[in-house]
Amino acid sequence: MLAVDRKVISRAVALCVATKLSDEEKLEVLRRLDQFRQWHSLEEKRYCLVCGNLISGRQIQVAGGTRGNGPLRLNCPTERCNSIPMDWVLPTDEILAKVEKTATEERKAAELKSAVEAVGNDKTLPHDDFMSRLLKFVLPFKRYS
Ligand SMILES: [Zn+2]
Repeated sequence: MLAVDRKVISRAVALCVATKLSDEEKLEVLRRLDQFRQWHSLEEKRYCLVCGNLISGRQIQVAGGTRGNGPLRLNCPTERCNSIPMDWVLPTDEILAKVEKTATEERKAAELKSAVEAVGNDKTLPHDDFMSRLLKFVLPFKRYS
């Protein structure tokens, strides 16, 4: 058990080390791999056309670069988004307004969803629990009546 845990941990550590770059190195990689726009700092933001998220240079993931892993590449930090640097545009005011609007709508949808789930839980789980307890309580009496 312990050996397996150690193996997993050491692999996770190795993975982190492999893709860990200093800020300067990362900026250098961004400049080299993103030939479409200029990068002046890691704090710069880009708008990903594929997933519709604002991403900063710091958030962009650098993968590969080691033997067997292929050449260095940049990945959007969003899960399952496989955009390439060409999809990352400079956020204009128009884009920023759109992102803001989407974020507000998503927050509202999430609030609504959790509200619905809370109501749903109230109606199902405690109710079932209550019913089964009630049945357990009622049934023995029924037998004697
Ligand atoms: Zn993306």
